[in-house]
Amino acid sequence: MVRGISQWTKTLSFPARISPQKPNKESKFYVDPCMSPILPPNSINDNIDKTFVITDESYQEMETKKAIMESIVYCIHHKDGCKWSDELRKLKAHLNTCKHDAIPCNNKCGAMIPRVLMEDHLKYTCSQRRARCESCSKEFTGQTLEKHIGSCGYELLYCENKCGMKVQRRHLDQHKLGECVKRLVACRYCNKEFVFDTLGTHHAKCGHFPVACPHRCETGVLPREDLEIHLKNHCTTYLLSCNFKDAGCSFKGNRFALDKHLEESTKTHLSLMCNVVTKQQHQIAVLKSAMAKLSPNYTGTLIWKISNYSSKMSEAKAKEGIELISPPFYTSQYGYKLQASVFLNGNGTGEGSHISIYIKILPGEYDALLRWPFSHSVSFTMFDQTTQPDKACNIVESFIPDPTWKNFQRPSREPDSLGFGFPRFVSHEMIKKHHFIKDNAMFIRVKVDPSKIVAV
Ligand SMILES: [Zn+2]
Ligand SMILES: [Zn+2]
Ligand SMILES: [Zn+2]
Ligand SMILES: [Zn+2]
Ligand SMILES: [Zn+2]
Ligand SMILES: [Zn+2]
Ligand SMILES: [Zn+2]
Repeated sequence: MVRGISQWTKTLSFPARISPQKPNKESKFYVDPCMSPILPPNSINDNIDKTFVITDESYQEMETKKAIMESIVYCIHHKDGCKWSDELRKLKAHLNTCKHDAIPCNNKCGAMIPRVLMEDHLKYTCSQRRARCESCSKEFTGQTLEKHIGSCGYELLYCENKCGMKVQRRHLDQHKLGECVKRLVACRYCNKEFVFDTLGTHHAKCGHFPVACPHRCETGVLPREDLEIHLKNHCTTYLLSCNFKDAGCSFKGNRFALDKHLEESTKTHLSLMCNVVTKQQHQIAVLKSAMAKLSPNYTGTLIWKISNYSSKMSEAKAKEGIELISPPFYTSQYGYKLQASVFLNGNGTGEGSHISIYIKILPGEYDALLRWPFSHSVSFTMFDQTTQPDKACNIVESFIPDPTWKNFQRPSREPDSLGFGFPRFVSHEMIKKHHFIKDNAMFIRVKVDPSKIVAV
């Protein structure tokens, strides 16, 4: 190792307490560290040129040199932490062992490395170091290993799809294409793309997924989204209920059998529907009377409006025994409960020619406190609705109950009697001549004579 004094003087430092001897301004000197230790001129040294002539001037120079070489200095690596300090002449020897001094890399990589760092350099950073790839176990020099890492086929890498797998670099493409559970794959039925591990869930609801008809008909499999229509319209095995199921038909069969059944069972279905209508009529009557009960009439007088007269009349003419029933009413708050009934096409002796009218005594809440038989006079009035009051001709009929007549006895809980009244109340002829019907409605008043009420 060769160093020039100019290199040293840049780095040399002197302990403050020891003043180095200042060289003579005039004199110039160079210390070559490669040269042998400088000795006093009077000493004999083999390394000194025997021909060296000590002149006065050169003697002075020698003295100066000696003084310099004896000055106390720090190691040039003082700042790096070397604590060495001694005479300048011993510096060279120190540097041969100073652990902070740089020497060429033992591996001949060309780098100058402080002794103290050599071990690390050789192990980790030297471009000429021998090193093994941890992944493939092949040996490299430091420089080539750095290039190799990042491309080693055996290095384990996390799959970029975040499936959690570590795969060797050389197998990564194959993994992502064919094995990764997070790869995108197309549903083979609908062609839409899904993450592989959600494909099962998708198949469970994919509209194109083939499913078998649950009734095992000859269709076999069909796309899931077509199943509903198949069951409804095409499945030959699926049993459908007859459209008149609610009316009471219990037929069940496949679509074709059902079509046939519907064609063949018109009569049966019609009679089922008639039963439904009858039942509903009854229900309507029950509801009507329940409604009437909600707001009872306690006046002893009922004004009964019969609307839709013409259709009710033609119905009455078409079917025998059609009876119109008035809302019930009371003779007083705690009196008898009564109900009027009308046969538009007549009843008994009035059948086919007259309107018949009757009154019935219904079981009431206060019957136990009332006098029996019922004995109040009852009058029926049919109003002439003419706009000229002087020409009005109301029809009035009344009667006083016959106490022997069973209709006026206290009624049982379920009365079935016809009541008492006038089978020939108003003739159909009369109806035509006067204005009893207006706006297709007829008004009948039923009045119980209050003076003869013997209520509590
Ligand atoms: Zn040192
Ligand atoms: Zn090296
Ligand atoms: Zn490798
Ligand atoms: Zn993956
Ligand atoms: Zn699909
Ligand atoms: Zn089917
Ligand atoms: Zn049916």
